[in-house]
Amino acid sequence: MRFWIRLFIITALAWTQLAAAVFCEQTTRSTLIIGFTDNPGIIWQDSRLMYHGASYEFAETISNYLNVNTNYVIGSPADNLQYLKSGIIDVIMLPDDEYYAGSGEPAPVNQPPGTISVALGRGIGWLLVDEKRPELAEQLRLAVATINKVNTFYQNDLQAKYHVSGNILNLTDEERAYLKDHPVIRAMISPRQPPYAYLQDGQAMGVIGCIANRIEVDLGIRLEFVQADTHQNMMEKLTEGTVDLVMDVYDDNNWAKAHNATLTFPYLALNYVAVMRKDKPLPEKPVIACARTHFYTQAHIEHMYPAEQRRYYLDVADCMAAVNNGDADMTFVKAITAQSDIYQGNYYNLYTNGNVVFSHAVAMAVSQNADPILVRILNKEIAHINPQDVYSIINSEVYRVHAKDTLQAFIYRNPLMSMAVLGSVLFIVIVTLLYIMWLRRKHTHDLWQQANIVSSAQTHNLHWFANELLPTINKYAKARQQGELFVLAISPQRVAFIKEIYGTKNYTLAVKSIIAKVKAKLPWILRFGLSEEITHAYMLCQKPPGLTFRQAAERIEKASHIVDLNGVPTSFTYHIGICPVPRSGDLEAAILMDNAMMAHNEIIGKSKNIGLYNTAMHDELLQQQQMELYMEKALAAGEFQIFLQAKYDLVTKGIYGAEALVRWQSPELGFLGPGSFINLFERNGFAVQLDYYVLERVCQQLQERIRQGLTVVPISVNQTGLHITERGYLSRMQSIAERYKLPRKLVELELTETSFIDFTTKTENENALQITRRLKSMGYALSMDDFCTGYSSIAMLRNLPMDIMKVDRSMLTAAEQSERSHTILKQVIELGQRLGMTVLVEGIETPAQESLLQEAGCNIGQGFLFARPIPAEQFWAKYVD
Ligand code: C2E
Ligand code: MG
Repeated sequence: MRFWIRLFIITALAWTQLAAAVFCEQTTRSTLIIGFTDNPGIIWQDSRLMYHGASYEFAETISNYLNVNTNYVIGSPADNLQYLKSGIIDVIMLPDDEYYAGSGEPAPVNQPPGTISVALGRGIGWLLVDEKRPELAEQLRLAVATINKVNTFYQNDLQAKYHVSGNILNLTDEERAYLKDHPVIRAMISPRQPPYAYLQDGQAMGVIGCIANRIEVDLGIRLEFVQADTHQNMMEKLTEGTVDLVMDVYDDNNWAKAHNATLTFPYLALNYVAVMRKDKPLPEKPVIACARTHFYTQAHIEHMYPAEQRRYYLDVADCMAAVNNGDADMTFVKAITAQSDIYQGNYYNLYTNGNVVFSHAVAMAVSQNADPILVRILNKEIAHINPQDVYSIINSEVYRVHAKDTLQAFIYRNPLMSMAVLGSVLFIVIVTLLYIMWLRRKHTHDLWQQANIVSSAQTHNLHWFANELLPTINKYAKARQQGELFVLAISPQRVAFIKEIYGTKNYTLAVKSIIAKVKAKLPWILRFGLSEEITHAYMLCQKPPGLTFRQAAERIEKASHIVDLNGVPTSFTYHIGICPVPRSGDLEAAILMDNAMMAHNEIIGKSKNIGLYNTAMHDELLQQQQMELYMEKALAAGEFQIFLQAKYDLVTKGIYGAEALVRWQSPELGFLGPGSFINLFERNGFAVQLDYYVLERVCQQLQERIRQGLTVVPISVNQTGLHITERGYLSRMQSIAERYKLPRKLVELELTETSFIDFTTKTENENALQITRRLKSMGYALSMDDFCTGYSSIAMLRNLPMDIMKVDRSMLTAAEQSERSHTILKQVIELGQRLGMTVLVEGIETPAQESLLQEAGCNIGQGFLFARPIPAEQFWAKYVD
């Protein structure tokens, strides 16, 4: 059935071609129908139905010589014979498997009977023609002969092209015996030419090494490789006969003989390519580096280039180095090793364009000392090795050549990626550096902020101000020479009170807004520094023309007088100290600031609120320092003396009592009144001890006089405001009262409104009430000193259980000058009396003042007119005894 279908197809094919010939008027060209059986190498069809193979190519060439078209029909050998016999096909194509197995005329071994064979050539195949058509066989034979005549290599070329397997290794008994007797053959290969040939741990490697391994396996022998350092060294060993075999030499018999060797068949073709530099074009007459030990290359170069263009080096490596460093322009190396030579030497400036410049065959050289049978055996082995195997060895060995894994090699091989990586690294480094710089700047900035800024008010601090002071003064040198610069110390009054009422946060906000306002309004404030506690500030100012320092300070005061405190416009008052910057001479920032602060401190407790520094202040400061140095000792040594100033009845002029006023008889500082030390002692706290001392001395005197039966009068002692916060004040006062057991109200305590009782805060108010009640219960009479100097006198009257009202001297002098004040004084006296208090006016210096008071209804007075403060003993003697 299959046969008939095929028959139909083939007949249809023949008819189609006939029709084509008729219509195309190609009547001259008939078709040769060829039957074949698929056979790799000979004839086969690929997946696209294209034909390949040595027989196919030969048949196509023949068709040209016969002037016929070809058509191919596939079938089994039996089918094909049937087609041939029935005339459907003209020719059968046979493979050449067992060619020449017999003797006599060459013919295919299994030639079907009734056919004539036409030989296409060894390894190519046969054409079979029906014996009834001898003229076709003759035509075919003629065509084959003509083709072979035209191209004597045609058959060889086809064999080489389609050779799919080597010859069968068919050794004779003699040859086998030789191999058995010589299981180890000493051999050599060209040294150090990877991937062509090289030794590694005594093993032959590379293309030649692989072929050597194949020979070992096929012949059942072992090749023992002898090391050679150079090509020359290898050839010397061959010439000497130290080795039996050199695996790779030039296929040149003359040269082989010169080295005492016989050549085998060639088994490898070596192509040579030129290696040049990338960075320099080839000159017109390039200098060629030639390896002295490489005979063939040398011969070739000498043939191609004149002597002046040749430069000789020991081996290929030296030639490459010469081209790389510019000593030569070009060299020739094996195509197989070119890339490896470039890689191994890291010659990234060298390249090969891959064009084969010349080539030569490689054969084995067998020492003439060895048995010639070895050459014959090797020839059989070479014929046995499939050339395709040699190609695949070359491919895999060349493929294994890798560039050295150095950074330079990597960059060379991957320029774009390297640039990208380098760029990224650089980018990361730059970004990191910028980040570190930013962090450092931030850190420095933060540190600077910490050191120079009051964070809560976001303004410069005193440290910054002190650092800035002298550079700024130097900057304004002209203003300094004209005496316009001054340093100002300023502090808001009643800070504790404001903080208590509005809270620290609001206070801070208020200060912040004051600073902003003042700075904006008064551009002649050159520098500003605030204390960390926000209690005081310093300014460096340039006095506006036409103003005095004081007037300039008043401007500042005015600009910061009304402040918005938590939405409430609040009036702020200040203490200001001014230190003019000397017009010339060396300056010290700390001294300027201290002087301004000294002027500032000077006015605290006084009615002034602007103080100007003068040199006397400095002396005073020195004296205060000395007082602090001696005060403890002075107390222990009894240097503080009690002076008593009489209080008297204005009408009868009888003694009412006395006020104890302390004096300091200092061996170092002289005789000092309290005016020079009380303020200091109140600041440093020593006033507390001094008060106890005075109180005890007064109590002692009174107790002593009572004990002696002498008359006593009430004595008042002054109490510093520090007692209110003193721990254990009441218990100590209690113990004094209990110790002296004096009659009640014989000792009076003079409390000042301004220092002792501050009604600005509720806590202190309650505290004051507590304290005064307790003191009173201990038997002390309480006297309200300096009445009418503060703002809370009336509040004090209302709250505290005072016995005596001591109206301040300022009321008296004021009453003398204005009727209004006079009225007030009168009313105050009356108020005191109505409240059941003893009213006393102090500071009576003139008889007029005395009579004014008498008229005003005041009974008791104190003043220089009647008595000055005198030592206690003198007082008792003069006024009482
Ligand atoms: P103070 O309590 O107001 O005492 C009255 C001051 O007025 C005394 O000054 C006295 O000498 C002075 N004085 C009296 N009569 C007149 C006068 O007619 N005209 C003038 N111009 N002054 C007169 P002194 O003794 O210098 O004392 C000053 C201040 O020192 C006292 O003022 C008092 O606050 C304080 N003080 C004195 N002794 C002590 C003490 O032992 N302890 C405490 N804490 N303070 C004391
Ligand atoms: Mg007093």
